[in-house]
Amino acid sequence: MLFSKIADTFAALESTSSRLEMTDILARSFEGMDPSDLRNTIYLSQGLLHPDFYPEKLGMADRLILQSIATTSGNPADKVEKMWIKEGDTGTVAEQLIANKKQMSLFSEPLTLDAVVSGLRSIETSEGKDSQNRKIKILTSMLHDAGPLEARYLCRIVTGRMRVGASSMTILDALAQCYAEKENRPEIERAFNITCDLGLVGETLARDGMEGIRRIKVERGNPIKVMLAERLPSLAEVMERMGGRCAMEYKYDGMRAQIHITKDSARIYSRRLENLTDNFPDICERLMRNLKGKEAIIEGECVAVDRDGTILPFQNVTHRRRKHDMESAVNEVPVRIFMFDILYLDGKDLTYEPYPERRRILSESFEMDDMVGMTVMETIESVEQAEDFFDRAISSRCEGVMAKSLSDESIYRAGSRGFLWIKYKKDYHETLTDSFDLVVVGAFYGMGKRAGKYGALLMASFDQETGQYCTVCKLGTGFDDAFLDGMPALLDEYKSENQPRSVSAKMVPDVWFEPTVVLEVVGAEISQSPIHTAAEGWIKEDTGIGIRFPRFTGRVRDDKGPEMSTSVQEIYEMYEMQSSDS
Ligand code: ATP
Repeated sequence: MLFSKIADTFAALESTSSRLEMTDILARSFEGMDPSDLRNTIYLSQGLLHPDFYPEKLGMADRLILQSIATTSGNPADKVEKMWIKEGDTGTVAEQLIANKKQMSLFSEPLTLDAVVSGLRSIETSEGKDSQNRKIKILTSMLHDAGPLEARYLCRIVTGRMRVGASSMTILDALAQCYAEKENRPEIERAFNITCDLGLVGETLARDGMEGIRRIKVERGNPIKVMLAERLPSLAEVMERMGGRCAMEYKYDGMRAQIHITKDSARIYSRRLENLTDNFPDICERLMRNLKGKEAIIEGECVAVDRDGTILPFQNVTHRRRKHDMESAVNEVPVRIFMFDILYLDGKDLTYEPYPERRRILSESFEMDDMVGMTVMETIESVEQAEDFFDRAISSRCEGVMAKSLSDESIYRAGSRGFLWIKYKKDYHETLTDSFDLVVVGAFYGMGKRAGKYGALLMASFDQETGQYCTVCKLGTGFDDAFLDGMPALLDEYKSENQPRSVSAKMVPDVWFEPTVVLEVVGAEISQSPIHTAAEGWIKEDTGIGIRFPRFTGRVRDDKGPEMSTSVQEIYEMYEMQSSDS
């Protein structure tokens, strides 16, 4: 298959911000595609060569790419560099210079998808002495055969900054449209949620249809998208929603871990599927030893504790992620895992088992000790009992409680947020709203003491329906000096010359960013707003909702990707809850 066909599709995707149009473009391009080409096309559309959770990532340095562009296009290096400084994107530079090249070389051959994938794989795995030269050589040879559009996308993919705007959900829509019926969409999405591998889902669907999709099962080694909780503003509402009876567990404030364990290996994934195995060697070792069966996938919250087992605030455990000297970190910051779910045991997918059964299996599958334990859980049958349990959770330094349904339907819903689990935190007592995890999409230069620095940030949340990031507040408080000084290091690599296509905003900041960095923010209330675009038109025309008096809590949510930020739909629900309370 020719890479030019794929480049045309990427260009068409880039020319629209409508999710429906993107779905159509993708579905048309998927039609009749060879299954393994489809798999590679899906990865490339996300700037990847493998599923997201693979540790290998492309990320060739811009300067090396510029050298390849200069050689291929026959332009002096300083001219290419000047253009790059102006354009800010190696893809655009390559496209323009290759278009200007008078005539294609006599020896150039059409670039195939296979050649691109194998070239990129060689670049990805090039290591050690002379690897820079090897990378330049491989890219130069691909650019030599590329037309302008192909060059644009090759350069963007190889830097790891490919953004054509098609989200995972849009790709799933397109796959369903092309290869299945509308009613099959949830099953296709489930296959993705239990494998986190869009390419695998695409290839299976193209090759074996829905039969193949139904054969996809939870497997050790493939991370599973985590199940998430809804929120309600009072314990009385939690109990009512649960039908008067539920399980309640302490809600620990640490780091969620999904752990794939055998007797001699363990791999830890964060909730955004990063591999954190090296950060928790002690937990891995203990779980391997304490597992009674042969293999399992469990979930739990990793929490830092002091020497006598008292829970420490969450910052202590995040410290583990940033430490380079892991041996001393393991000694300085002892960690405990509070397990709360089991998704797989000895060849059996447990995600369809109801919660009480999973909990029983989990508690019987491990030896418990000072490092490995279960979350505290009780069966609750009245609001008074719930309040008492909540008070005990807070005194034990937890952030609240998780209510969990005991019904027969209480399966593990991978990747979905629903009322089978409801969280209730102590913040709700104080502010009426939960904290928000918002995405930075812009910055405003500061004045006075903050002159020359970023003084405020434009914050957005993800609209799950449209795939757009919509603004909800301008954030200027809660920053300490260290954070203000560190902002360029945190944000500048995501700078964008123009308003990113995935951002919907009326306010125009001094600097735009590709939606990437997620910060935790608290606010006094959610109100209607003419200047923010979240939920615009849902209450009335030209009006969205915004967060009033937002304040940064100091917590950078590097465990969340931008699509995992508090969604527009959730903020709208909170707005409604708050209105019904007053
Ligand atoms: P938050 O910011 O409240 O942690 P979140 O968006 O990360 O929210 P939620 O679904 O809202 O995720 O809250 C669930 C999180 O609470 C889980 O991801 C997990 O990390 C943590 N947690 C702590 N204790 C428990 C428990 N007993 N059962 C399930 N999750 C728990």
